[in-house]
Amino acid sequence: MQTSLTLLPFKTPLIFPIHHHNPISPKPLPSSPQPYQHHTFSQKQTQTHASPVNSFKGSGYISTISQAIKEEEEYRRARAEVLRKGLDLEGISIEGLSVGGHETCVIIPDFKCAFDIGRCPSRAIQQSFVFITHAHLDHIGGLPMYVASRGLYNLKPPTVFVPPCIKDDVEKLFEIHRSMGQVELNLDLVALDVGETYEMRNNLVVRAFKTQHVIPSQGYVIYSVRKKLKMKYINMKGRQIEKLKKSGVEITNTILSPEVAFTGDTTSDYMLDPHNADALRAKVLITEATFLDEGISIEQARQHGHTHLFEIIEHAQWIRNKAVVLTHFSSRYSIEDIRQAVSKLQSKVSAKVVPLTEGFKSMYS
Ligand SMILES: [Zn+2]
Ligand SMILES: [Zn+2]
Repeated sequence: MQTSLTLLPFKTPLIFPIHHHNPISPKPLPSSPQPYQHHTFSQKQTQTHASPVNSFKGSGYISTISQAIKEEEEYRRARAEVLRKGLDLEGISIEGLSVGGHETCVIIPDFKCAFDIGRCPSRAIQQSFVFITHAHLDHIGGLPMYVASRGLYNLKPPTVFVPPCIKDDVEKLFEIHRSMGQVELNLDLVALDVGETYEMRNNLVVRAFKTQHVIPSQGYVIYSVRKKLKMKYINMKGRQIEKLKKSGVEITNTILSPEVAFTGDTTSDYMLDPHNADALRAKVLITEATFLDEGISIEQARQHGHTHLFEIIEHAQWIRNKAVVLTHFSSRYSIEDIRQAVSKLQSKVSAKVVPLTEGFKSMYS
């Protein structure tokens, strides 16, 4: 039987390298940026001792404070390390990694979600939603481990979205793991079809869109939801509006704003499908560019169900996004190859173009 660990509130996630070495007994990190401020000195103490910290040296009290300060420093160092690797675009932070054929897992902590889960990076465990684009192992291989890890830490069973055509197989996969490992694996598995919308929370929804790969696949757009007063009531006084509202009249329109779109593996054809307009006008588009140079032709890229950077450049006029994150580069490329290639697209679009390069090596290292 699998045993569960009861943790203190799981506020400080396992994303920090200092905890990677011992995932079995993760030590809760200080949840406040300055935990030692919780230890307050009385007025008398501060007056009597010019430097209260030194004057308490050797006492149990001071060692607790020192420990807290030390932990704080470790926390800051680790956090800086994580932030260095993550991206911050249009106020949305994006973490994770994507190496073609090896592993893709792109995380948006603000939305508590991960797109695909090829292996299971520890920072994915805190995310309550996972959106699977297709069933290749570099995109779905980490799913059972992710669900098991959430159980291990007594976290709420996650909601996992899959293309409807693979739902039965994913269920069978979990049945096999439950039977082989004699474990409880709890998840809410949702088959979300292209064009369908699901409410993640009251101000956030997700919708699936069509992509083209060598097996069935789909991308996802996450929208923020807000209510806007209907034009015809715009000049009304507050009291009148209140009255109308109470009488049951719908006084607002619901506005969906596409925030983030994630394609997963696909040919560039998705860019030409008018149904996918929202993906191309989301604030941030996270798309693939598996191949970057003349070493692989556009035709070869298409045969493998992937996008060549040259095609994105060709279709650049359709990109209305504020930022484009390129992912899923073939492992044949170095960080320098990627940067050089990305600058070619950057010169063609007003959107900020950023590559996700975690997991790639530099030519010089
Ligand atoms: Zn892939
Ligand atoms: Zn694939």
